[in-house]
Amino acid sequence: MTYRGRFAPSPTGPLHFGSLVSALASWLDARAHRGEWLVRIEDIDGPRTVPGAAEDILATLERFGMRADATPLWQSQRVAHYRQALEQLKAGGLVYPCGCTRREIADSLLHAHARNTTLAYPGTCRSGLHGKPERAWRLRVPDGDAAIVRFDDRWQGPQAQNLATEVGDFVLRRADDQWAYQLAVVVDDADAGITHIVRGADLLDSTARQIYLQHCLGVATPAYLHVPVVTNEHGEKLSKQNGATALDSDRPLDALRAAAAHLGLDLGSEPAGTLEQFYSAATAAWAKRMEIRGSQ
Ligand code: GLU
Repeated sequence: MTYRGRFAPSPTGPLHFGSLVSALASWLDARAHRGEWLVRIEDIDGPRTVPGAAEDILATLERFGMRADATPLWQSQRVAHYRQALEQLKAGGLVYPCGCTRREIADSLLHAHARNTTLAYPGTCRSGLHGKPERAWRLRVPDGDAAIVRFDDRWQGPQAQNLATEVGDFVLRRADDQWAYQLAVVVDDADAGITHIVRGADLLDSTARQIYLQHCLGVATPAYLHVPVVTNEHGEKLSKQNGATALDSDRPLDALRAAAAHLGLDLGSEPAGTLEQFYSAATAAWAKRMEIRGSQ
């Protein structure tokens, strides 16, 4: 079987424990399938990108013994591909320009909330810009039953999301001239031939949008696996914004053991002495937990 997985960090700060868990899970899944593992730097969101963070993340992965099977890809180098995908969607009449400001959308959502109806983008500009300047490009989501996207997550089980009522027509090209994560991730995963996506459960909610976009672009849908996110003492997702500390690169095994424990992996009673021993034990434990046959 062909397997190609990836780890796609956003360079908003150094690798922290939460992102290590995602990196480790995707690495172990690739190893257990005897597949390839790629790294993609998601530096498309200019304002959030911290200079030097990407190099720091790559150096940490290296120190932790996770080596990519190809040179890392940088999203900032791939804008021509995003533009091409948007043109394809325009030609198919699947996207439309939107002139709504954040304020206008927030107001209409507030009204929807007051009426106790959906919190999705209400589709104001579907019928035209009504004299407003073009700000963003949105993908038109289907109505009725066609709006329900279902998929089977390898960790979380069967999922369903109604794109019309829960999301609404979503942005692919943002008003601040940035490419939206949803478009970039789908185009990049398709171009790289990614067959398996393993990442944090905070992205579970984006998956239906990405699957729908894959259909619109005529590309394959990979298998999905979303691991539980690491939370802080307030139950919030651990992130650089809420004080997650950088990993200690001098003690990779301690952090890796903790990450394996977060994933519920039983490494046996013998603590691994080297990175290679750790990865062998962790890969075997992952393969057992995820019921992957034919792994090492
Ligand atoms: N760049 C995203 C993040 O760091 C992950 C995207 C993905 O794995 O699809 O949260």
